Amino acid sequence: MSDTFDKHPHVRGYGMASARSRARLLDRLEALGITDIRVLEAMGRVPRHRFVDEAMSSRAYDDTALPIGYGQTISQPYVVAQMTTLVLAYGLPGKILEIGTGSGYQAAVLAELVDEVYTVERVEPLHNLVRRRLADLGYRNVRARLASSGVLGLPNYGPFDVIIVTCGAAQLPETLCEQLAEGGRMIVPVGESGGQRLVVVRRQGDHFSKEFLDAVSFVPLIENDR
Ligand code: SAH
Repeated sequence: MSDTFDKHPHVRGYGMASARSRARLLDRLEALGITDIRVLEAMGRVPRHRFVDEAMSSRAYDDTALPIGYGQTISQPYVVAQMTTLVLAYGLPGKILEIGTGSGYQAAVLAELVDEVYTVERVEPLHNLVRRRLADLGYRNVRARLASSGVLGLPNYGPFDVIIVTCGAAQLPETLCEQLAEGGRMIVPVGESGGQRLVVVRRQGDHFSKEFLDAVSFVPLIENDR
């Protein structure tokens, strides 16, 4: 008899209960149209229950955003799957920058796929927690940085093949565009809450083309200490 768990043989470790619920989550993502096997396998390998508070861990494999403190949330798995699909859509990036580390879950999923992951967070306790968490889980290819304004990016570490912003920007963050490698792409939710759209910016020389995708709902990007 083949069940959900047999269908996803790459889902292993961290205990059977978690592996089974993770396999069920992958089924749901597939049903919602996530077809890139690399994305599904990467999400199958990351123990999302280790990225939320223990009190919340029984809900870690539900397809919902969950609170992580400081008014922030770990993104909904479907959204992480969509963003990761877009990251891979134009070839495997070598170096990626994420703005909005939050729980570190999206960074861990990316670290399963990409050689070098940089991630920036402005809330210090979240940043500290993520550093410990990623070290405990053995992610050595993620560099987490604390910065009061992620929109300034990490000029000393760029250029990046892909930049993903996991908080909603009121306007397109121009400074980040400059840190894209030639042919690189930025995936960023833009617009006021309630009216956010996912935008893909592509760099060709000094030209930046924009493509507008789905409506999305991310927590806001905070500029400095406004
Ligand atoms: N990618 C995360 C979810 C992000 S929630 C995950 O997988 O869990 C958005 C995060 O962006 C929050 O933690 C918030 O503090 C952070 N953030 C908001 N504005 C920011 C800014 N200007 N620079 C860096 N991080 C920012």
